[in-house]
Amino acid sequence: MLAQFQTFIPPVRTLMGPGPSDVDPRILNALSRPTLGHLDPAFIQLMDEIKQLLQYAFKTDNQLTMPISAPGSAGMESVFVNLLEPGDKVIVCQNGVFGGRMQQNVERCGATAVMVQDTWGKQTDLNKLEDALKATPDAKAVAFVHAETSTGVRNDAKAICALAKRYDCLTIVDAVTSLGGIELDVDGWQIDAIYSGTQKCLSCVPGLSPVSFSQEAVEVIKSRKSKVQSWFLDMELVMGYWGQGGKRAYHHTAPVNSLYALHESLRILHNEGLSSAFLRHQEMHVALKVGLEKIGLEFVVDQAYRLPQLNMVSIPQGVDDAQVRSQLLNEYGLEIGAGLGELAGKVWRIGLMGYGCNKKNVDYCVNALTSVLA
Ligand code: PLP
Repeated sequence: MLAQFQTFIPPVRTLMGPGPSDVDPRILNALSRPTLGHLDPAFIQLMDEIKQLLQYAFKTDNQLTMPISAPGSAGMESVFVNLLEPGDKVIVCQNGVFGGRMQQNVERCGATAVMVQDTWGKQTDLNKLEDALKATPDAKAVAFVHAETSTGVRNDAKAICALAKRYDCLTIVDAVTSLGGIELDVDGWQIDAIYSGTQKCLSCVPGLSPVSFSQEAVEVIKSRKSKVQSWFLDMELVMGYWGQGGKRAYHHTAPVNSLYALHESLRILHNEGLSSAFLRHQEMHVALKVGLEKIGLEFVVDQAYRLPQLNMVSIPQGVDDAQVRSQLLNEYGLEIGAGLGELAGKVWRIGLMGYGCNKKNVDYCVNALTSVLA
């Protein structure tokens, strides 16, 4: 006999981990509107607005600004496969998990990753980066993660880009966790290629990756000697669908409803204003810090470069990591994040991202942790 399958009704959760974050009901509502054809004039108008709203969020006039129809990892891959060719050298700054993924992307393009390693939980050291730039005069690009989700560190994107530009390098930035949560200025900081994700401070559904490429990056793509090895992520082809050069050709069937959701999430960010959104993240971080420190939890990352949207605290001695997280989930419906990589079992990561970054969530999390740790 065939099994009977029930409609899936997700349990009620409060998502305060490293992402995905809670999705604003206004965004879920947008997602459920009737699907249009991906070349319908009304949909194309929506795509144009998404592009303008992304330019606002990234602070850029870059024409080549759009969401890739796949998660942040695909945005990451799109940047590397389009800009790199076999034999290229890229300086990759690593101080957490995601810098390591950049290295793997570079190597899979047949290029060499020159690594600048820093301790997880500390910022990328500008002196070390400058030494690597001096030692690698033929480096094509410098790549780094703006907001390292695995540690809660904010790397100094403005200073790193300024340094890279002094050595004539392209700048490649991972803004998966930073977009919408902390200051980011693509044009002002001379960022050539950037990718983000929708599931963090944009509080949209997971599965899309906003990207933006500067004119200099576009020239590099146009003057490639070899074909981009990925058909799906080849920006010359993707551009044809997103209206670059007035074209609108079918490339792939866009995730139409997810793009309704992205439009709504960007509209919400635009209405709030970038500086108000950044201030809200900072204020809620301070409220969370006061509450957590009262119950003896200690922050790992220095205040000077701590991300407000990703709070990493040490697990107190003798406390069972998995037991606490499962009690929070089962008794409070509250998700917080475990440590990743070398930090597994040592830290918790508490997200305050986008819609979920509010006083109600701060209090809920502090109260739940207070009872579970008592
Ligand atoms: N880069 C950073 C900094 C991230 O935090 C993540 C995901 O958490 C990614 C890249 C990969 O994004 P996705 O999981 O959407 O593929």
